[in-house]
Amino acid sequence: MDRAGPPRRSALLAGGLALAAGALSGCAATAGGPGRTRARPEPAAPNPQTDTPAEAYARLMAGNRRWVDGTLRHPDRDPTRRELVAQSQTPYGVVLACIDSRVPPELVFDTGLGDLYVLRTGGQAVGPVVTGSVEYGPMTSATPLVMVLGHQRCGAVQAAYEAARDGKRLPGNLEAIARALRPAYEQTVRQGGPDPVDRMIRNQITLTADDLRANRDLAPLVEKGALAVVGGYYSLDTGRVEVLTGAPTVATPGRTGTPGTPGTPGTPGPTVTPGRTSGPGRTSGPEPAGTAAPSGTPLPTGAS
Ligand SMILES: [Zn+2]
Repeated sequence: MDRAGPPRRSALLAGGLALAAGALSGCAATAGGPGRTRARPEPAAPNPQTDTPAEAYARLMAGNRRWVDGTLRHPDRDPTRRELVAQSQTPYGVVLACIDSRVPPELVFDTGLGDLYVLRTGGQAVGPVVTGSVEYGPMTSATPLVMVLGHQRCGAVQAAYEAARDGKRLPGNLEAIARALRPAYEQTVRQGGPDPVDRMIRNQITLTADDLRANRDLAPLVEKGALAVVGGYYSLDTGRVEVLTGAPTVATPGRTGTPGTPGTPGTPGPTVTPGRTSGPGRTSGPEPAGTAAPSGTPLPTGAS
């Protein structure tokens, strides 16, 4: 299930998740485990997961370069591909993005069917359900890359910023998003300076990526180089994804995936800038499984 061998706790969780895998989407590992029944006599094995984090990153960013340049390939979007992945899937990446209608991950990375797990929440806010969904691919089918994708002029972040600044509550369940974004707001206030909303957007990206990278379920995968968690900022103006944190090292033979090491995928496309990394050190915290709230901050209830 996991090419590099899952850590003990993850193995237990993955075992349970593997059972859920079939129920959820007939997905994940193509190999039948003990007691695993096949819905069809001959499940397809279209694309066994062979990408390293660096390779997956390069692939994803190459797609973004095509999006920027207008040289789209629209890969994996035909009936043949549909048939190929109908029985199983091995996406090479997870993208946690904002709900914004202008930032659909499949388009801005020029991907197709079965290429990505995609999650979208306002301001890419996380809570236990979202975090568990991010973990699903890496923990059940060795998905080697997670991209947290925020974007320029994010309305969710702006609303959360203004509510926090003015000491007001957002209506209804929108308040849950504001609570989830509170650590990014507080960091922004501490930093000061102009354009606080854009800084809060960037802080939300890096905090979320850093906390996912360091959470106790994903950190072991990151530590052994089986997973990279990247934070990216999408420009509405240019379509370009600027990597803020967690880019794996340039693809080389063998497994790479050092978190926080900036690198480029071999083309001059996506901008890569060094970002803060918390490193995998914060893995021994007593937080409950599946939480990825910024360290020391209780997760807002119902925020997912
Ligand atoms: Zn947004």
